[in-house]
Amino acid sequence: MSDFWVTEAMNGFGMTVQVEAELCRRQSKFQKIELYQTAKLGRLLLLDGIIQLTDFDEFAYHEMMANLPLFAHENPRRVLVIGGGDGGVLRELGRHPELEVMDICEIDEEVIQVAREFLPEISCGFDDPRVKIHIADGSEFVRNHPEEYDVIIVDSTDPGGPGAPLFGEEFYRNMKRALRPGGVIATQAESPYLLPEIVARLHAVSRRIFSSVGYGAIMVPTYPTGMIGACVASDGGDVRIPKREVPPELAAQLRYYTSDVHRAAFANPAFVNRLFA
Ligand code: SAM
Repeated sequence: MSDFWVTEAMNGFGMTVQVEAELCRRQSKFQKIELYQTAKLGRLLLLDGIIQLTDFDEFAYHEMMANLPLFAHENPRRVLVIGGGDGGVLRELGRHPELEVMDICEIDEEVIQVAREFLPEISCGFDDPRVKIHIADGSEFVRNHPEEYDVIIVDSTDPGGPGAPLFGEEFYRNMKRALRPGGVIATQAESPYLLPEIVARLHAVSRRIFSSVGYGAIMVPTYPTGMIGACVASDGGDVRIPKREVPPELAAQLRYYTSDVHRAAFANPAFVNRLFA
């Protein structure tokens, strides 16, 4: 067994994973990209030292980021992913034949290249013919695409680094303008144990802009504190209630998302509700 462990350290927490080999290390224009073969969890991707995914539990995050907003919408056809350069959210969107447009706006082309080379089971999301890749800052992109999308999913890094503009109120207002009537957004909204002030701020910002807002919890063991959440918001009705049944062919492919999980994810503990009060 290897004695080599990699730790993501943030806010006094550490998430440590045993690794066997370094597969890739590079500095892109935007961030440090590292990829490891772990002892027990498949591959591990870090950006600027922050865990983005492992093969072991990426399905939980990617299924929820895709399916919470898709099922909060009655009839989604046009979807935009911001960030998401590993392809995992696209892979989950690809399971939905009703989608016509799957645009992705990723700032860092090198993340896509690394995922394509080392994470084929995740980056296969890019192979869908409906996918159109835009290499740009997502905050600029939404400003220039009014009323185009039914669903916008922000699969971003944390607020430090290139993800910073994706956590501001102006970005949320521009996302609303980029939505068609009844549109839904879902954004990577951090953990209430680790970054409560960010969870609270994203919720407050969304409430100023949208009539329905929910924080959907997602259990992901390899993120520090074991959880993360999606801020889901819309003017098209209560996002906490799925608008459609999961078709059986899709349900058979999923490992995390169900209609019950959708409803349950938005039942927040008291200390989280107080963050939103
Ligand atoms: N699931 C992950 C996590 O732990 O939160 C996020 C994964 S995904 C790899 C995050 C992506 O967001 C990165 O590839 C990063 O380059 C991209 N990103 C960061 N800031 C961005 C911006 N302003 N516009 C578009 N993409 C951005």
